[in-house]
Order: sequence, then structure tokens, then C-alpha cells
Amino acid sequence: MEVLSKENIDIEKIRAQFPILQKSINGKPLVYFDSGATSQKPIQVIDAINAYYKNQNSNIHRGVHTLSSEITVAYENARTTIQKYINAKRAHEIIFTSGTTDSINLVAHSFGKKYITAGDEIIISAMEHHSNILPWQLLCEEKNAVLKIIPVSESGELLLDEYKKLLNAKTKLVAATHVSNTLGTINPVKKIIEMAHQFNAAVLIDGAQAIPHTKVDVQNIDADFYCFSGHKAYGPTGVGILYGKEKWLNEMPPYKVGGGTIKTVSFSKTVYADLPLKFEAGTPHIAGGIGLAAAINYINAIGIENINSHEHEILTYATERLLSINGLKIIGNAKNKAGVISFVVNDLHPLDIGTILDKYGIAVRTGHHCTQPLMEHYCVPGTVRVSLAVYNTKEEIDSLIEALNKAIKMLQ
Ligand code: PLP
Repeated sequence: MEVLSKENIDIEKIRAQFPILQKSINGKPLVYFDSGATSQKPIQVIDAINAYYKNQNSNIHRGVHTLSSEITVAYENARTTIQKYINAKRAHEIIFTSGTTDSINLVAHSFGKKYITAGDEIIISAMEHHSNILPWQLLCEEKNAVLKIIPVSESGELLLDEYKKLLNAKTKLVAATHVSNTLGTINPVKKIIEMAHQFNAAVLIDGAQAIPHTKVDVQNIDADFYCFSGHKAYGPTGVGILYGKEKWLNEMPPYKVGGGTIKTVSFSKTVYADLPLKFEAGTPHIAGGIGLAAAINYINAIGIENINSHEHEILTYATERLLSINGLKIIGNAKNKAGVISFVVNDLHPLDIGTILDKYGIAVRTGHHCTQPLMEHYCVPGTVRVSLAVYNTKEEIDSLIEALNKAIKMLQ
């Protein structure tokens, strides 16, 4: 696939590469606005996974036979593809996990075990996904540590002055999302990290909603840990990444242990493997790793900047058109936003709106989006969320507006 300039980005060609977009739902063409939950998959990713099971299926790292050697090379190449995509310094700083949630739990358990003691403080933000709240809440309960929360402004931006006040010598870790899955806010992660580093606190960035939309350079932002899932970035479910600085990963104890994580085992003493295997217990999701690399290659072929500017154009158009609807309020109006729009309409229940939109073939997400504290902050039971990907078009936004007007009429 050739790399396309912004002016020439061929959305019809891109759409044709996503077989599911040919589908009808309730007799209407599928309009998929739920990529924040999981993106659709291009044929290149589906083919890579098929090819693995058809022609390459074998276990990695433990075989001398040809199939095993070949798939080991392919799996390690996948690691390198991901390393380059996020500009990590070393391939062994890339740990395959089952997803963002798994990556965060790994750090909470392993970093938590080694470095967190009673009275220490961990800072998260008010706009975190439950996956970046609960592991820290549990850790703080277990260790008698203190969980502090960076508040969010009415428009959906983190209050950095308040964050500054929370930081002190007791702060051991800050965990914040790069892009909010509910508000779409792109957080100033470089600044957040720099401020934490002044107090020698490590920083974990939840990149689940950033990786498919924006350029990520873990060295430039100086992240200690960066997590994401394959399935939100055109890749398969069940695979994700934890990037960690070598220094931390070397010092941290293993989290899950078992086959693959060791150098030698005896009943008196076990010596664990070097990075990255120390953190990759058991047979991994091999097809997932291969599929994720295919997804990253797919993004690279289009160009992340092209994807970003296309989505931004759709975001601007969708925001304008949605705001023209009487009684519609967008939750999350940060200056710097990715392709996520959450909204409520008067006191209509988001679930009812989502159900009617589905009758018109339009897939949106409704509810609290695993950010219940944020819903409490905005005093709403939930929102309707439209989340965008490279395959969305202005015509699809027009279909949304038309169906939404009908839904509102019906419900009022
Ligand atoms: N963090 C954010 C910001 C998310 O949006 C999500 C999923 O929606 C997650 C974490 C959890 O991702 P996963 O379910 O793939 O582990």
C-alpha cells in the first residue's frame, strides 16, 4: 500500500480494505462509530492472522524445528515493529501482554510490590478509565498508600496547577491517560511526566486511545511506562503492549511466572530470564503479536499524520453538526481533542438514543464508558459516544445527524 499525502488520502480505498464495512445492520449500511471500544480490522491484519494459522502455526522460543524457528523470528520482528512505532530505545523494553488492562496490572503488581510502602502516594487523574483506577486503588489498599486525584475542568482538561500541588517527595507513581476515552481530551503527557520527574516519581501513561490516532514517541515524552491494546489500533483482541524503561523492568520482580520466564529452575532456586521473557509467562498470543505488527504496518503505510488529520476533519464537522441540534450538549470540549465526542440530549437516556440509532445501522456506545467518577463529575448517568477511525466519512456523520433527529423526535 502506498503512503498517501493528506490531500490524496483515498478513504474509499481504505474503506474497501475493511470487509465488515460492507455489512448491513437492520437493512441499513453499517455506520461504525464505536472504534474507541474496538476498531474494525483491515484485510491485511485478517490475512496475517490467517496466514499464521494456515502456514506457520507452531510455538515460539522452544523449538529447533523449522516452523518454530520461523515463527520465533516473525514474533520477534513484530516486537521490533512495535518498538520502532513508539520509538522505544530497545526491543526488550516491549513486553507483550493481553492488553492495556493487563499491562497496567503488571506494573501495579510488580512495581507496587517493589517500590510502594505505607504512606507513599500515587496520583491518577479524574478522567481515567476504570482499568487505570482499580489496580492503583487495590494497591493503595494493600499497602496503606494514598491515592490522589488530579481534578478536571468543566471543559475536560486536567488542572495542572492542582496536579502541581499534589506532587511531593512521597509521590512514587503518577498514572494518567494520554487520550480520554470519554472526553477525547489529549493530555499534555510530556509536561505531566516532566513535573513528576522533578519529584523522582515514575509515570505510567495509558495510551489505549492514543496509539491509533496520534504519533507516540516514548523517549521524547520520557515515559517510564506506556500501555496500549492491539484491538483499538486495527489489530486483534487479546494482545497488548507494556513499554517500560529498561532500568525499571530490570529492577521489577516477575509478575506472572511459569514456562518461558526462566533461565533455570530447581526446587532450591529459580533464576529468571532476562527481558523481555521475564514478564512473558506461558505461550503468548502468537497470532495476536503477528496481527498487531500487521496493524502497525497498516497504520504506517497510510501514515499516522494522515490518519490524524482525516479524523480531525471529521471531528470538526461532526462537532459543528451535532451542536446544531437543540438540547444537545457535548461533554468534553478541550482545546486539544482526538476523535471522540460524548454527548447528552436534554434528559433523554443515552441507552434509548443508542438503541434507536442501531435501528438505522449506526453503532455508537452508550453508558459510563468505564469512567464512572467522570460521569459523577459531570452529573450525567452516561453519554452517547461517537468515536472515530480512519474509515469514517462526513456522509456517515450526515446519516448520524438524520437518525439522531428521528430518535429525538420519537423519544420526546
Ligand atoms: N484505558 C482506556 C483509556 C481505554 O479506553 C480502555 C478501553 O476502552 C482501556 C484502558 C482498557 O483497554 P482493554 O480493555 O483493551 O484492556
